[in-house]
Amino acid sequence: MIIKSVELEKVCGVTSVIPDNDKPEIAFAGKSNVGKSSLINALMNRKSLARTSSQPGKTQTINFYNINDELYYVDLPGYGYASVSKEVKAKWGKLIERYLRNSKQLQCVFLLVDIRHAPSTNDVEMYEWILANGFYPIIIATKLDKIKRSQVQKNVKIIKEKLNVEPGTIIIPFSAQTKQGRDEIWDIIDQITKE
Ligand code: GDP
Repeated sequence: MIIKSVELEKVCGVTSVIPDNDKPEIAFAGKSNVGKSSLINALMNRKSLARTSSQPGKTQTINFYNINDELYYVDLPGYGYASVSKEVKAKWGKLIERYLRNSKQLQCVFLLVDIRHAPSTNDVEMYEWILANGFYPIIIATKLDKIKRSQVQKNVKIIKEKLNVEPGTIIIPFSAQTKQGRDEIWDIIDQITKE
């Protein structure tokens, strides 16, 4: 995929109307710190356009990045903050759900999990929630460079088992450091947006 232009076009908070876009949308979900901003930056060929969780103002919003005037990458709020109240968590949950239900252009959801660990209860809930909204998420197992090559298949198997993935689910190991996995993800996005 050739990235010609990238623009953060819309930022939606808990009270915002979900935009009625006219181009395909590809969404990214995952717990905070899983490497979602790093992945989105790698897929945009930008160093730091997608803000990381450590930067304020990011976490409660859905960010729409216009890519090449052809499609949107949709950065969903990271979940799983221990320090956040139940009320705030519920608001983010509603925002994500509102988006999954109401977007007319959402073509595909990528769910990110850390390749080093078995998915958490939150990850399992998110996976089931995406399914319940009619999407079959593609799993991206992040931080691939942090484990030995010999561990990869074993850890992928654990992720599949813990999430109890639907048969045929694609799992792509990815590293933001080496960019391994990026071409595979771009190929999938290309296929989806050209259908
Ligand atoms: P987010 O909260 O999901 O957006 O996560 P970030 O992209 O901000 O990443 C969280 C931390 O993990 C940062 O310190 C990143 O540098 C680091 N990180 C993200 N992806 C990778 C990766 O593929 N490899 C390594 N080694 N570190 C990563």
